[in-house]
Amino acid sequence: MSALLAVDLGGTKIMACLVSDGRILSRVKVKTRVEAGAAGVARQIAEVCGAALAERSAAWSDVAALGVAVPGLVEHSSGTVLEAPNLGWDSFKAKARLESLTGRPVVLENDVNAGLVGEWACGALRPFQDDPAPLAALFVGTGVGGAIMVGGRLVTGRSGIAGELGHMKVAAGGPKCGCGGRGCLEALASRSAIEKAVGCGRGRLTSGRIAKLLDRKGKKKLKKAVSRAAYYLGIGVANVITALNPRAVVLGGGFMEAVGERLLPDIMDAARENCFERGLKDCRVLLSSLGDDAVVLGAARLAGAR
Ligand SMILES: [Zn+2]
Repeated sequence: MSALLAVDLGGTKIMACLVSDGRILSRVKVKTRVEAGAAGVARQIAEVCGAALAERSAAWSDVAALGVAVPGLVEHSSGTVLEAPNLGWDSFKAKARLESLTGRPVVLENDVNAGLVGEWACGALRPFQDDPAPLAALFVGTGVGGAIMVGGRLVTGRSGIAGELGHMKVAAGGPKCGCGGRGCLEALASRSAIEKAVGCGRGRLTSGRIAKLLDRKGKKKLKKAVSRAAYYLGIGVANVITALNPRAVVLGGGFMEAVGERLLPDIMDAARENCFERGLKDCRVLLSSLGDDAVVLGAARLAGAR
């Protein structure tokens, strides 16, 4: 058997999957021990991968490579995670460390970049695999992540920060963002932005909880915050269309998975008001079809194509 191991490393959980031919054969999730530091988390990744192999009685020798998606900025030339604020990582040579722990080749990628590759390889963007026009992703959860592909390749830019679409300014002088700036899409349309707007502690309102509360009577503050998020996501989509004239934009992440269907009409209305009609007409705005699996399937694809 020639299989790939794919890891979705997050600030709260690590998911490792054994993947073959774009199919997930096994899946193991554990809580990330952020307090163990970068070296400790790297050991944890190797353990979780071992568990994913054991589930299918597979051996390390069956694994061609590891694809590891990280919530941070990746320097490919040196295999370094330059910054990953949710993990507290700073210039960690993750590729070398993981290769020495597992004995397999490792491909690192930013998690939203991996998610876009996943949707392109086996999800909502599959119909556009041979289209030369740009494709983009906006993943909405605790933050707002973005990614861009052209001609089947990720666009990472000069220093790896191309496609950080969550930090496009959508409201000049608007609310403060985690990046230190103001008025970023993330500061207006993420789950954290909604928590802040309703005066709720960080991490208290899960996306599933938001979806449930929207069905209840009252909850005016929450409904207002969610419709503000939809409006600004529409402006975000419009800006992506203005910048790239893409063939498609995929909207993913936990928040979109929970409320995307419901918000899409409002997102499209706001997009329509804010970009060229032709740009929107030629662009499919789609919801993710892989949900949580987009990132691991993309990481596997990148590992297989290394
Ligand atoms: Zn920002």
